[in-house]
Amino acid sequence: MATEKPDVMVGEWYWGAKCPECGDMTAHAHDPMRGQGEREITSEKPVEAQVTMTCPNGHRFSAATENLLRFEWGAQ
Ligand SMILES: [Zn+2]
Repeated sequence: MATEKPDVMVGEWYWGAKCPECGDMTAHAHDPMRGQGEREITSEKPVEAQVTMTCPNGHRFSAATENLLRFEWGAQ
């Protein structure tokens, strides 16, 4: 099993991308800026240029950080 997958909770916000194989939204990193009062309009993305993720169905893929999407887990 991959170890880099963050714990995901429904209703929390994450940076992630859509799995190219199955289309499921995949979380890379928790976005702590959301759900805490909208202090900043622009929250920081992960600093790496490229990140690797493992989708809920076990597909491993990488994506450019600039293509990451912010999404609410469970709302898609
Ligand atoms: Zn997948």
